[in-house]
Amino acid sequence: MMECKIERNLKMCTCTYEPCSRKGVCCECIRYHREMGQLPACYFDETTEKTYDRSIRKFISVARK
Ligand code: SF4
Repeated sequence: MMECKIERNLKMCTCTYEPCSRKGVCCECIRYHREMGQLPACYFDETTEKTYDRSIRKFISVARK
């Protein structure tokens, strides 16, 4: 069975939402945002990430710039 690489993931995580219990647990992070019709923080640039708008609409609007 594969072990969770949470320590390694945390070093690369760009999410600034500190209270989240899913930080570093990428499988839970992706599942959560997918169920909300969103993308995880690491899909967004630094400025956009801080807005906490994880919508696909936001992702596309930023990607077009
Ligand atoms: S992107 Fe969302 S689920 Fe993932 S760590 Fe940040 S707030 Fe939590």
